[in-house]
Amino acid sequence: MKLTRPEEECGIFGIYNHPEAANLTYLGLYALQHRGQESCGIVSSDGSSLHYHKNMGLVADVFGNQDIFKQLPGKNAIGHVRYSTTGSSIMKNVQPIMVDYSRGSIAVAHNGNIVNAQLIKDELEAWGSIFQTTMDTEILVHLLAMSKESSLVDRLTEALNRVEGAYCLLLLTETRMVAVRDPNGFRPLCLGKLGDSYVVASESCALDLIEAKLVREIEPGEIVVIDKDGVTSYFPFKKVQPTPCVFEFVYFARPDSYIFGKNVYTVRKELGRQLARENKLDADIVVPVPDSGVPAALGYAQESGLEFEFGLMRNHYVGRTFIEPQQSIRHFGVKIKLNPVRDILKGKRVVVIDDSIVRGTTSRKIIKMLRSAGAKEVHALISSPPTSFPCYYGIDTPTRKELISSSHSIDEIRRYITADSLAYLSEEGLMNAVGAAKQTYCRACFSGGYPVKFPILGNEPQLGLFGTE
Ligand code: AMP
Repeated sequence: MKLTRPEEECGIFGIYNHPEAANLTYLGLYALQHRGQESCGIVSSDGSSLHYHKNMGLVADVFGNQDIFKQLPGKNAIGHVRYSTTGSSIMKNVQPIMVDYSRGSIAVAHNGNIVNAQLIKDELEAWGSIFQTTMDTEILVHLLAMSKESSLVDRLTEALNRVEGAYCLLLLTETRMVAVRDPNGFRPLCLGKLGDSYVVASESCALDLIEAKLVREIEPGEIVVIDKDGVTSYFPFKKVQPTPCVFEFVYFARPDSYIFGKNVYTVRKELGRQLARENKLDADIVVPVPDSGVPAALGYAQESGLEFEFGLMRNHYVGRTFIEPQQSIRHFGVKIKLNPVRDILKGKRVVVIDDSIVRGTTSRKIIKMLRSAGAKEVHALISSPPTSFPCYYGIDTPTRKELISSSHSIDEIRRYITADSLAYLSEEGLMNAVGAAKQTYCRACFSGGYPVKFPILGNEPQLGLFGTE
């Protein structure tokens, strides 16, 4: 059995010592829904055993019935939201994973992607291990169970010393909650406090919702154990230069969150300002692609002095799936989500701003939409450099050949998306905007420089490693 796909973008949330642990975890997951819409789950602990509920679907659907919380008793809980993937038997991959082993019960929720997962899995299977899911996270559970170390932290350290890649983890045992951020610190993870309860979340926006205070971010390479004695911190791994993911700032994290020491909205606006410094355009209005392009377009408008207008309206109630009509009116995907405001656009020279171009299909459709609404010129600006390389650390980007900028020049992309002009933010501009002088970021999706090397082929990211590529 092959792993079907890397563990994709996800969100994790956990709370220790609260009478309504499962309920607050539900709210936390609600705030993290943007990090994963395919499935979700919560595991709670009542001090002597673990209880779980998980399913495919959005948080509000999976936990829509109040009775579910009666099945999730206890003062400690962790939860997970998982991003959309195209696997076949995906129900079994819903997290948190929960197992009983010789030392009791444990549940694990994981955000990130372990790049040497297949290698370890092959080895474990050769020794007789039987895997129940196709997730890289399950490898961790096996490694934990096999460890001869006596303390949980030592077992965890031994297991994690074998894995490479990106992981933010939340573990729940009968009596403890443990949070881990990998030594590179690819994904965000923060610690909060709500009265006498401790909270851990992928992003601070989840703390805001439950009125918890942000205490600090969990450091790269840190293991945080939360139990009846409070919070204990360990740094058992070899120190490396942290490389948090810059794409979290560009697209993925929620603008109201604080990650890697900064507010996402402020950074995105600065990306837009930088874009304006690099690209002065003769135009009438600046229009964001909602919602991903909004802060950058605001920054661009403020720096350039051009008028900011919501020339595209977004329907916020579009579910993950909708029934496509028959052939006659097919391929209208983007129209379901966005509609142009004709009065604003008619006769105007429009600067349209989005955070990134992946395959190019969204930009192409949007530009067509703007023109058919009467825009005289459409200039596309992107608030990040060309996305030319896949992510192997937990962001769901397609394979290299599907990334339009991996095989096309900027002018070829401009022609494909039918823009009058197209410009991307420079890598230098991106680094200036995120303040990279103080911090190194992973920007492999732009530069191809992967900070954690790939096994098997040595230094090359290996397409096909997980079966679907
Ligand atoms: P595309 O049509 O493939 O070029 O997709 C571009 C759009 O996808 C942009 O509006 C981005 O905001 C959005 N986007 C960028 N990266 C991702 C991602 N990893 N997952 C989902 N959407 C993304």
